[in-house]
Amino acid sequence: MFVNRGDNGDQNDNNDIIPQILALRAERAKLFGYPTHAHWKLSNKMAKTPDKAMDLLLAVWKPAVARVKEEVADMQAIANSEKLGIKIEPWDYRYYAEKVRKAKYDLDESQIKPYLDLEKMREGMFWMAGQLFDLKFDQINDVPKFHPDVRVWKVTKGSTGALVGLWYFDPYAREGKRSGAWMTAYREQSKNNGDVKTLVSNNSNFLKGKANEPVLISLDDANTLFHEFGHALHGLCSNVTYPKLSGTNVATDYVEFPSQILERWLLTPEILNRFAVHYQTKQPIPKELVQK
Ligand SMILES: [Zn+2]
Repeated sequence: MFVNRGDNGDQNDNNDIIPQILALRAERAKLFGYPTHAHWKLSNKMAKTPDKAMDLLLAVWKPAVARVKEEVADMQAIANSEKLGIKIEPWDYRYYAEKVRKAKYDLDESQIKPYLDLEKMREGMFWMAGQLFDLKFDQINDVPKFHPDVRVWKVTKGSTGALVGLWYFDPYAREGKRSGAWMTAYREQSKNNGDVKTLVSNNSNFLKGKANEPVLISLDDANTLFHEFGHALHGLCSNVTYPKLSGTNVATDYVEFPSQILERWLLTPEILNRFAVHYQTKQPIPKELVQK
């Protein structure tokens, strides 16, 4: 129902609007001197041309399909062993993927969570930013905030002490807050009208624990935390003249590059051994669990 919204022949039906949009896009592309909307749209992206974009997609397509076939074969083997006469279909994937995970790796998410304390993960991100980008984070309490749950850190260059910007952290769910996790900039770095430092923020929707109770998060959520922090670092490392080009205002096929690279640091021994420590025993996450 969600996917088909706008296609139900009612007052919210979009079928007549779509050809209008396509015709206007084609007309605009011609006015700018491009053969199609795709050519115009890609002209300032990394891919540059529709042909290159298609080449990239097709280069991924074959290995991706091959991998799906391997995974479905694993699921089918489990279904066969259950003797229910099921042929695995796409709508069975999520349910049977969990069974494969359990059978192949004996991995239980609840075993991992005690090692992923939100505040330790945040410390891990700060440490990573120090190692990679010479950034230092000091919490401050003398700036305006829009909610008591929001905390703010001053970001400086570790070696010189030069001010880089501020990092706002708004981790908890509350009524009226947008769902999911994201990065945003309340102010972009720029130099065309004085030396303007950026104000970036990371936002997520964790359930707030009681006072002095750790917020334990899933591996997926820890990954997302590092990913969104990667966007924040992209903003903090910005060094441009004009705000239009500042921070994450880059080509849309580049913007996920810093975040996707930086999320890979989470599962390195450097981070896990220091920061993925059990919230009660303070022992680092066991190697066997990481291998699983
Ligand atoms: Zn992202």
